[in-house]
Formats: sequence, structure tokens, C-alpha cells
Amino acid sequence: RFQGGSSLTLFPPTPSSSSCRSRWPRMDADSDYHRHRQKEKVVVIMGATGCGKSRLSIDLATRCTCSEIINADKMQLYRGLDISTNKIPLDERKGVPHHLLGEVDPANGEFTAWDFRSAAGSIISDITSKKKLPIVVGGSNSFIHALVVDQFDPAINVFDGEGSSPSSISSELRYNCCFLWVDVSFPVLSDYSLKRVDDMLDMGMVDELAQFFDPEANDLEDDSEHRIGLRKAIGAAEFDRYFKKYPPSPGGLRREEDRMRKAAYEEAVRAMKQNACWLAERQIRKILRLKEAGWDLRRLDATEAIRAAMTPSKCSNGGERWSDIWERQVAEPSVKIVKRVLKE
Ligand code: ATP
Repeated sequence: RFQGGSSLTLFPPTPSSSSCRSRWPRMDADSDYHRHRQKEKVVVIMGATGCGKSRLSIDLATRCTCSEIINADKMQLYRGLDISTNKIPLDERKGVPHHLLGEVDPANGEFTAWDFRSAAGSIISDITSKKKLPIVVGGSNSFIHALVVDQFDPAINVFDGEGSSPSSISSELRYNCCFLWVDVSFPVLSDYSLKRVDDMLDMGMVDELAQFFDPEANDLEDDSEHRIGLRKAIGAAEFDRYFKKYPPSPGGLRREEDRMRKAAYEEAVRAMKQNACWLAERQIRKILRLKEAGWDLRRLDATEAIRAAMTPSKCSNGGERWSDIWERQVAEPSVKIVKRVLKE
């Protein structure tokens, strides 16, 4: 259970909202707002890992209305492993305030779905009180579920095992949610996940994991399920096994000099890629469950855009650039949906 701590900043200062032209109802004393509590409008961007959720959140935040983003990826919450958990880099955030992104001290233990409901709920109230739009974005569907349902029982895992029929997922929500589901056909998404792991390795993921490696930790042999907090991140368990056999040397890894070491490294990478694909598969299954349970998810098909992103020189779709395809098939339709919801 998360213990909290001074390093967790739940309410970082945000830029003044005075420049925002709000489309939100005026909340003066006579309005219906005070007679009938209006549900706060919240945009929720869902989708499997690697489908482009973060990009879409910035597209929306920079085009729709004054917005702030709340991260709903249970690993990106924690401070550290920025490359391995694929946090959106600062320069790509385009000045949009982000919450619960790298704010939680991993030393404080597990940040639970209940902690998320409570922390993100307060942040949403804070954002809406400034007449700004909260955009929740992340692949952790259990956290999104915990945040938005009217009644949340932390003792029940609605996605778990046999007994979880769609009916155990409530469609009674405490916010007026506009759900955007960025979908990518699974074969394309899994190819992209593999490529993404290679990109992350090129960006220095192994060095990052080497610094995170703790030879004293007692979970070295366990799989991710038995780990706590950030130690569950894909890559951590796989490379802990590797570093245990071949401890990181101060001079960096010299894997090519050692055949056994190279094989162990390749095994760690293979396991990581496999786990990334499994994660995407599980996430899609959960989203389909939420849809079956009656959540009004608006599906945006990013398959063509992601396919084109993997072949930048010779794009699919007649050579169109991937960013143009994204714009036409994902960003523009999403902006339209959100603008319509804001006017309602
Ligand atoms: P679960 O109940 O299986 O934890 P969830 O919906 O709560 O699912 P997911 O986002 O699907 O949360 O994360 C499941 C697991 O996938 C995490 O515990 C972690 O091992 C891995 N994972 C999720 N996001 C990341 C990430 N950004 N980087 C690395 N690993 C991740």
C-alpha cells in the first residue's frame, strides 16, 4: 500500500487560466449547477501500449480548449525509468501541464488503484475548478476504471479471471466521460511494439535498467506479478536476471566479448519483447470488456498511421506521410468529437 510522502506533488503549480476562453457553463449562484450537481467533463484516452495515446493527448490539449493531462499509466506514475516506461519527453509535452507523471517516489511502495482514484480525482476537481479540461491518458485500464466509476470497491478486480463478466463492470460513472479509444490492429501493433523495444534499447534503456538494478532486492528471480511498484515495469525483471549473472560494470556493457553474456542479453531482450506484446493483448481485451459493459468508447483506428510510421521512407497508403495519416484518421476526428462534447 502506498505510504505517501513529501516527494509526491499532487498539485503542482499550473499556468494561469486567465487566457483560456472557456466553453464551460458559468457557475454563478443562480445556475442549475448549484441545484443539480453537473458531472465534470473528462476526456479519457485509452488504448494499448504503443498506439499513440500520448501524441493524441497533446494534439487535443493544444487544439481544443485549455487542458491539463493526467497520466493513467501505472508505471509512468513513478519517478525513474523514463526510457524503459516510455514517458513522453518534456519537449514533446508542448507546455501542457502533466500530472501524476514521474511524481510518485518508488521507494514508497505500491501506488494502488484506490490511491489513483483519490489522487487523480482531486486533480480533476482542481483542473475543472480552473475551467480547464482534464484529459486522462494511459494504458492502465484498471486505474481508469477505478477513477471513473461511481462506486469503486478495491477488493474486486473486475478484470480478473473467470468470474468477471462484463456485468461486474459498472457503467455508472462519476464523470461525464468522453472516451477515445485509439485502436491498432494487433499484428501491426505487435510489430510496432518490437520496433519500439529496439528504439528504447538504442536510447539507453539497458544503462537505465543497470542503474535501477538492486542486487540486494529479494525479488530477483520472481516474475513481474510478485514485484512491487516500479519494479514491475517491463524490462526490470528481464534485465535483473541478466545483471544477476553479469553485473553491470562501471565501464558499461561489453556483451560482444562474451558469447554466453551475449546469449543472456538476447534472452532478456526476447523476453521483454514477448512481455510487451502480451501486455498489449491484455490491454485490448480489457478495453473490449469495458465496451461490452456499456462504456461509450469512440474508436479511432490508428492502424494505417502506425503501419506508415514503421516504414517512413515508403509509406503505405500511396506514400502519404504517417503524420498526415494520423492527422486525418485520428487527430482530426478526435478533435471534432471533443469539441462536440464541450458544446453539449
Ligand atoms: P494489471 O491488472 O495486469 O496490472 P492494469 O490495467 O492495472 O493491468 P497495465 O497498464 O495493463 O495495468 O499494466 C500491467 C503491467 O504491465 C504492469 O504491472 C507492468 O508490468 C507492465 N507495464 C504497464 N505499463 C508499463 C510501462 N509504461 N512500462 C513498462 N511496463 C509497463
